[in-house]
Order: sequence, then C-alpha cells, then structure tokens
Amino acid sequence: MRLGRTLRRAGKASAGALAGALACALIAAGAADSAALDGTAPWTGGRLWPTLLVAAIAVLVVTTMARRLRFEAPSARAQRASFWLAVAGDLVDIEVSLALVAGTAAAIAVTGGLASPLHPLLYAVVAFAATLLSRPGAIAAIGGALILEVALAARAPSWEDASLALAAHGTFLVGAAAAHALMLRGLIARHRWRRARRLDREVAASRESARDYRLIAAALGPASRAPRGRDDEERLLAAGGVRIIADQLTWVLDQAKRELDARTVALAWLDADGERLKLKEIVSDRDDVVEQPRLPSSGVLAAVVRDRQPLLLAATKPGQLPYYQGGGDGAAFTGVPVLEGVHVRGVLCADRTRAFDEADRDRLTDAALQIVRTVQAEQVFRAVERAKYEHERFFQATAMLGRALTPEQVMETAFDAAAAIVGFDAAAITLYDRERRRHRVAAVRVSPGAEGLLDPDKLGGLEFADNTGLAAMVVKNRHYLPAGGEVREVTAPVYTRGVKLDDARSLLVLPLVSADEAIGTFMLAARAEKRFGKDVREMLGVIATQVAVSLQNGLLYKRMETMATTDGLTGLTNHRTFQERFGDLLERAGRHGYQAAILLCDVDHFKKVNDNYGHPVGDEVLRRVARVLGEVARKIDITARYGGEEFVVVLENLGVEQARQVADRIREQVGRLVIESDKGPLQVTMSVGVAAFPDDGGERAQLIERADMALYHAKDSGRNRVVTWPEFQAARSKKAS
Ligand code: GH3
Ligand code: MG
Ligand code: MG
Repeated sequence: MRLGRTLRRAGKASAGALAGALACALIAAGAADSAALDGTAPWTGGRLWPTLLVAAIAVLVVTTMARRLRFEAPSARAQRASFWLAVAGDLVDIEVSLALVAGTAAAIAVTGGLASPLHPLLYAVVAFAATLLSRPGAIAAIGGALILEVALAARAPSWEDASLALAAHGTFLVGAAAAHALMLRGLIARHRWRRARRLDREVAASRESARDYRLIAAALGPASRAPRGRDDEERLLAAGGVRIIADQLTWVLDQAKRELDARTVALAWLDADGERLKLKEIVSDRDDVVEQPRLPSSGVLAAVVRDRQPLLLAATKPGQLPYYQGGGDGAAFTGVPVLEGVHVRGVLCADRTRAFDEADRDRLTDAALQIVRTVQAEQVFRAVERAKYEHERFFQATAMLGRALTPEQVMETAFDAAAAIVGFDAAAITLYDRERRRHRVAAVRVSPGAEGLLDPDKLGGLEFADNTGLAAMVVKNRHYLPAGGEVREVTAPVYTRGVKLDDARSLLVLPLVSADEAIGTFMLAARAEKRFGKDVREMLGVIATQVAVSLQNGLLYKRMETMATTDGLTGLTNHRTFQERFGDLLERAGRHGYQAAILLCDVDHFKKVNDNYGHPVGDEVLRRVARVLGEVARKIDITARYGGEEFVVVLENLGVEQARQVADRIREQVGRLVIESDKGPLQVTMSVGVAAFPDDGGERAQLIERADMALYHAKDSGRNRVVTWPEFQAARSKKAS
C-alpha cells in the first residue's frame, strides 16, 4: 500500500525528467541528426523514426513548460512526509532543463550539427536555467548541454575541427551559465543591501525619535512640550521601549552567533499567558529562515520551556527546526531557557553543522542572561520614564489650578487637571451649603464621544438634601468612595435616584476638603473598567484637595469682589461702582446714540425716622426701599445706594417722560411700604429728581447735578413727588419772570 503510493509519487515526480533524459540520450546517439533524417544512417532504417522523435521532443518541450508553469510546491508538511514530494520542485526544474536542452539539441542536429547556426540557442537555455531554475535544474541544463556537445563532436567526421568547436562551445556554455548565475547573485545582493539600508534608516529614524522624546522629557520643563494625549504618550513610551529592546536583542544574538560560529541563533518568547512561543528575533546566515513561523507546542523549543533545562542535540531530525522553511536539515542544536527569576520567558537557541558542547551551551546561557537583563533594564527605564511623565502631568495639573481665579474657572480647570491624569467620560463638581444642608451640582463635564453617559443639562444645578447618595456620604466622611473605584462596589446612587450612571464601570467621588472641612465633591466616571486605580486615586486626591483650596479662594475672591462693589446694608451697587458703571453706560449710549435717564431718590424726613424709631428701624426702611428699587428697575438698569438715605437709578434707553413714569411708580410703591416697629407701623415717602441724557446733559457730573437740583426742587415744593430737570427749569423761569 505504502510502497505503491511511494512508487506512484516517484513515477509522477520523475517521469518528465526521465523523458527529458531519454530524449537527450537519443539525440546524443545521433537519432535526429541530418544523416538519420536523410535515411542514410545505417541503423535507422528510414526517415519515419527520426521524424517521430523530433516531433515527440517538440511535444515534450511544450508539455514540460506547461507542467512547470502549473507546478505548485507541495506544503511544508507534505514535503516532510515524502521524499518525492520534497524533491518534486527540483525534479520539475530538471525536467524543464532536459526538455529544453533536448529540443534545442534536436534543432541543432537537424540544422547541421556542429556547423549549425543555432548553437547560441543552447547558451540561452543554459543561461535561462542558471538564472531562473533551482540549482539541480541549472546543473542538469549545463550537464545535458555539455554531453550533447561532446556527442556531437564525437560523431563529426574530423575530430580535430570538432575538438576546437567543442572547446569553444563548452567555454561559451559554462561562461553563459556562470555569467548569469553571477548576475543573479549580484542582483539579489544589491536588492538585499538596499532593503537592509532602508530598514536601517527606518530603524535609525524611529530610534532617534524615541531618544529625542526621552531627551525632551528629561531636559525640558512641562510647559515647553507640545501637549500630547495620554494614550499617545503611552504608545510612544511603549514603542520606544520595544524598539530599543529589539535593537539590543539583535546585538546580543549577533554576538552569540559569532561566538558559537552558528548558522542561526534565534530567540523565541512566551506570550503573556505563558502558553504560546513566538519567534522574537533571529539572526542567520541562511536564506530559508521563516520570519514568522508557527512554533509548535511540542518540539525542541517547547521541550526547553517545559523542562526549564538546556538542551544539546548532536543532530536534530530533518524538519525539527521550525524557523527554517521545511524545518531544517537536521543540524546540531542547542537551546537554553531564558529565565527571569523562576519564570521561563522564552528559549534562546542555535544550530550549526558541527555538534555543540557544554562550553557552547554555557555561552548561550550567558547570552540568555544578558537578554533578561536587557528586558529588565528597559522595564525599569520605562517605569522611571513613566513616573517622570506622571509627575510632569501632575505638576502641570496643579499649576493650572493655581492660575484659576473665579470658582467657575477653578471648576473648569479641575476637569482639565483630572483629564491630564486619567481619561474619564463624565465628571461633576458639587458644592455643599452647610447652613442649608443642601448639595448643589455646580459644574458638569461630559467628554466628547461620551454623550449619553450623563445628561449635563439635567444634572447641572441639581440640588439635593443630605441623603444616602455617595456624594452626601463622601462629604460626611471626608473620604472618597467607592474604595476600589469600581461601580459594582456600590448600590447607592451617586447623587439622587434620578441621576443614572448606568453605563459607567469606573467611578470615583472625591471629597473637596479645605481646612478640614468638606466643601463639596468631585465625581469622575468612565465607561471603561479599572480606570481609577490606586495610583490614579492618590493623584486625583491631591488634585481634589487643591481644587478645594482653589475653590475656597475663588469663593473668597468672589465675596471680596462683591464686598468691594456692593453696599453691605442694601445689597445694591455702592457709590464708587455706580460712578464707574454710570460712566460706562453714558459712554455706550453716546456711542450707539440711545437715551438714558438718572433718578436721584431721597427718603423724606428720614432723620425723623431715626430719631423716633431708632437707627435699626431706619436701616430696615433703607433695605425695604432698596428692594422696591430693585423690583421696579430692569436688569439692565443700575440701582445703587448713592449715600445715606439717597438712592440712584439709571434707566437705559428711556426718555425723560418714560423715566418720570418709572420714578412715579417707585415713589408710589415706597409710599405704600409699611414697616413694623416696636412703636407701631411706620410709612415713609420719597422725592425723586430726574435728568435725561442727552437732552439734559451729556456729562456724568452734569447729569447728577441736574437730577440733584430737580430733587431739591421736589423737596422744596412739598416732598413725595417727582421733578424732572425740564420741569424744574420751567418752574424756575416762571418764577423769574
Ligand atoms: P429730607 O431729605 O426730607 O430733607 O430730610 P432728611 O431727614 O431725610 O434729611 P437728611 O438727608 O439731612 O438726613 C439724612 C439722615 O439719614 C441723616 C442720617 O442720620 C441718616 N442716615 C444716613 N445714613 C444712614 C444709615 O445708613 N442708616 C440710618 N438708620 N440712617 C442713616
Ligand atoms: Mg438726604
Ligand atoms: Mg432725606
């Protein structure tokens, strides 16, 4: 059965080559030369057989070429399984060579033998075989051609002439083959050299960028570096590391190969699960190494991993070295495990024709040690680089917070600072009002692409009481939650049941602690798992503290600003700020050509209120009057306490008559106020003077002065009334006349 199959394979593989050889032999014997075709050769007995032979050779050439074109090399496994399949490729090439030689020789024989002008065709066949066919094919072509030339010369009538021709033909034949083979080698060498150069250049460029990057990171401050995304930074770091390791490993393998005088030194590495071996680096003299072979889970390499022991083999079985095409030819092999502490990381192995001894094995073991150190050094370097990078980010983040002034700025910067440390999808800041015992969401940010995790419009401004939510608990305990930064650790809502964060896997609610007091929370959420690991939590904790301090400062700043611009008793704009804003408003009105009016209001007989009811009641009257002014005036108007019991209202875009109506409304509403006191309810009245821009004056001081004069006239003419500057003027001219 098995023998039968082998014979069938042998027959199939070698039939063509045998036919070619037979054809060559017949031609060598003179079966197709001119004598045979003339029918004058003594042994042919006619023209039929030689003609048939030439025809058969022509058919052979055509079918052989077709076979060669269709030929597909059997798989590596099939080649390992059968000798005939392993040599099938070479046999097809031999077949082509012999058929072409036979065909050409037949043509030469027919057209005059040694004197034929077709001899150069034979050189072409030999050149073709030497350039494009495998070595056995090329040898068959040269050998066949030479034998035929010799046979032709031997049958020539004059040996002397023939030997000269033979010498010349033979030289040409061998010369053609050699020239083509050399040319081919040269082409391949040049191609390889170019490719190697290009690779070198690429490697050098990428290495340079990795080094550049390192230098930049080390030598320059954070501000001088172009901002890069966190993922980019990590990718760059890893890529730089991999390149440098690959570089150094190649060097170690090269060195080992030279020391061992090996054909090939290869490093196979176990994957992260420790299950599959992968070829990482290989240096070899041979050109049949496979760049990315599938390393079998059994075999010599796997044996080294399994036994954690060096392996010395005087001769491998053919096919046992998986990094060669076809598995190698049975060379001597040695392999050592690459050990990192107690863990096997991979296999370092070498092969050569001579057997290895213990000294060789020890040398390889040293190289394996060097490899582990290289990898470890790079790991340490990466860790240091990473730590440096984290610090840099961290300082950048804290520096940002230092520059933020208002609470709004601080909160926006807090999101930026957190983003510099960790990628998150949504974040929010709540502030806690200790007096009202209520929390309020003061700022929300949802990262681009993470919409849907959280609705910022719904969350922004949300108020909630002290409850069982995470945020409330975090404020109470002044400690972040959940402990491991994972959503699945908690069942409580972050704020209220209404706020859903269903898609989030990672969650962190940090307290904003300033001066030992939690003033709010800083919440971060991410869809990815395990985003907020220990290191990240610690850094974010520091950021949160800084945010709290900055927020407190911001709130203080805001309060100071308010204090500087508003009147403490009434909450209205104070005198100084009024003057500023009034100036600005007039300037704007002048520029855009619209009107404005100023109302100067003074409570009537206020001294008496103080005298009869006491100063505190007087204060209350002022507060109530201020509230009336605030209610009547629009948002764009300025309402200010001018001083004492005098107030001023500036109405934008109103003429004097409209302003008068507003003033009357104010006067009426003040008159309707009833203020309770110990001595019973009290009521007040108010007088108002009005002046309008630009009709009554174009200057701030002038307008105030004219309003004041109108006010004086209101007081003078009985109080509890409104007088405009035109009215006052009319009255004055009437009086004068
Ligand atoms: P009229 O304006 O009608 O001529 O009489 P008046 O009594 O209001 O007169 P005047 O403007 O001279 O009095 C202002 C008084 O307002 C003097 C001062 O004691 C009192 N006053 C000023 N500022 C305050 C304050 O902040 N609180 C209180 N309770 N009284 C103040
Ligand atoms: Mg007054
Ligand atoms: Mg008064």
